[in-house]
Amino acid sequence: MYDIIIIGAGPAGSNLARLLSKKKKVLLVDRRNFMSYTSINEKLCGGLLAPDAQLMFAKLNLSLPNSILVNPQIFAVKTIDLNNNIKKYYQRFYLNFDRFKFDKWMFDMIPDDIEKMVNTVFTGCRKESNSITVKLRSQDKEMEVETKILVGADGSNSSVRKSAYDAYKWPKQYLSIQEVYKSNTILPYYLAIFDHCITDFYSWIIPKEDTILIGSALNRDGAKEKFELLKIKLSNEGFDLSNLISTKGTFINRPIRNSEICYGRKNIFLIGESSGLISPSSAEGISYALYSSSILANIIKNCNENDVDEIYNKEMKKMNFKMTLKHIKSPFMYNNFLRKTAMKSSLLSIKGL
Ligand SMILES: Cc1cc2nc3c(=O)[nH]c(=O)nc-3n(C[C@H](O)[C@H](O)[C@H](O)COP(=O)(O)OP(=O)(O)OC[C@H]3O[C@@H](n4cnc5c(N)ncnc54)[C@H](O)[C@@H]3O)c2cc1C
Repeated sequence: MYDIIIIGAGPAGSNLARLLSKKKKVLLVDRRNFMSYTSINEKLCGGLLAPDAQLMFAKLNLSLPNSILVNPQIFAVKTIDLNNNIKKYYQRFYLNFDRFKFDKWMFDMIPDDIEKMVNTVFTGCRKESNSITVKLRSQDKEMEVETKILVGADGSNSSVRKSAYDAYKWPKQYLSIQEVYKSNTILPYYLAIFDHCITDFYSWIIPKEDTILIGSALNRDGAKEKFELLKIKLSNEGFDLSNLISTKGTFINRPIRNSEICYGRKNIFLIGESSGLISPSSAEGISYALYSSSILANIIKNCNENDVDEIYNKEMKKMNFKMTLKHIKSPFMYNNFLRKTAMKSSLLSIKGL
């Protein structure tokens, strides 16, 4: 019988496992193995560490090793509104990093006394009177393990959430497609592209060493065609897309209402993107993963087992305010008229470029 089983060793699950008391019997499960750059091992990501995530690392007393950072470090975003044909630059304070190395670094920080099962997939769970039976599959072998607490940290398409809270309203799910291209020039900015013919969310270009990432968060219907249209438009803007290295796709959540966020009840909890936490305006998710996992770790360590449910849900209510601010900001980015007005006003933009 485990005290806690965590499904998912992304930033949320790894941070929770790292912080949990050594007195607890903890099992961390992931379908990845964090050994090398394979398609399954690498989480699809823009690899930009936002100021909110940097603040979380400061609060956690952690500094980022240099080896995780990649060139170039960028100080501006070029925002292109293809519907209104406006281009502006804005100052930004992101760190450009390698997502595979980042996840591996977080995973490697987990102490040895936490049991880890890699290459293992969570397939379902069953609530018993005083425990939860967790079903796992590893190399075609099915197994069942018992735990007092189950934590879903398994990201945007969470199987734990599907197993335990499927009836709960889910955030809207987009399909994000991201391609890597060889590039001969180093962009001194990254790009955010708005075009409602492609998506009601946004698309991006991010330079990484001698490549560029071209990505978009797309409505699931017709996503592939829309991505092709984006590439045609970017070629017309002068981007050289002749040297494709890889194409990948995954789901990304976009909570429109706070009621779509579910932290779990009784003894099955959700942290990070599995709960629905991610910025609905920028799709930044790492700060939310670190925040929710840190809060849950503190509660599990310091409170009575029976109170975890109530205190975790109460503590996470503080997130509602942050999410509400993001919902207020969203129309200025995604409403055609408001975005046009904001961009034309040049408010907050970098002048002289
Ligand atoms: C294209 C794209 C670009 C993004 N860019 C950025 C960015 O630049 N900056 C930023 O802050 N955020 C970005 N995000 C969001 C960010 O990646 C996520 O919000 C963040 O990774 C959430 O962390 P997490 O730990 O909750 O989940 P994840 O990082 O998704 O980790 C989930 C873990 O669970 C494992 N898992 C899933 N299902 C199972 C299962 N059934 N059994 C076992 N293991 C399982 C996975 O292997 C994974 O290790 C981006 C997202 C996408 C899709």
